[in-house]
Amino acid sequence: MEIVMLGAPGTGKGTVGKLLSKEFGIPHVSSGEIFRSYSQRHGELADEIASYINSGTLVPDELTIKLIKKRLNEPDMVNGFILDGFPRTVAQGESLNEILAEQDREINIVVNLDLSDEEIIDRIVKRRTCPNPECREIYNLEFKPPKVEGICDVCGSRLIVRSDDNEETVRQRLKTYHETSEELVEYYKKQALLYTVKLNKESNVTTMGIAEEIRSYFE
Ligand code: AMP
Repeated sequence: MEIVMLGAPGTGKGTVGKLLSKEFGIPHVSSGEIFRSYSQRHGELADEIASYINSGTLVPDELTIKLIKKRLNEPDMVNGFILDGFPRTVAQGESLNEILAEQDREINIVVNLDLSDEEIIDRIVKRRTCPNPECREIYNLEFKPPKVEGICDVCGSRLIVRSDDNEETVRQRLKTYHETSEELVEYYKKQALLYTVKLNKESNVTTMGIAEEIRSYFE
């Protein structure tokens, strides 16, 4: 089961991805989480990655592909994966196809979560994240608040606001998204792999509902 999650930051790729990961027993691989963990190390590579994250711009394709390829070759990936945040450009999409072809497999479905920029900004400024690398649970002060304010329900860590979850950086991240990923949506549409879910306050689509639809796709 090889699933790719597309969509701008804040559309819920991580939340849906984690849910599907539990349900299908395959890893949820978030490129953003991989980069955040690199950025917390010491040295030139860490500083370089942190500067891209904090400015809301993309890590260059060459470095991104190298790090993701390493992850895709790890033993827990053999039964499939849910890729969240990668690919983000057509060049990354083409590299992903090459990597998977070398492994004799291919993408089954590309789930594209679609939400307006204004609703995204509203969601992201209310997002709180568990910083524990083993947990990384995601909350929203409006839709999914923690039971105890500021504390992760799952592991008890103190929740944080991600350094790039402020309005200025979010606007830059959305600009970057529109410049690069829309072409990628077309790329997957042409391959008949795209499954778009329209999200907005009126559509009442829930995280659970999306996960349910994807599950029925595989039945
Ligand atoms: P995310 O958690 O997916 O919103 O990603 C946070 C940041 O990590 C992005 O703003 C980029 O700086 C970097 N990043 C994540 N995924 C990619 C990717 N596929 N290509 C380039 N940069 C990425």
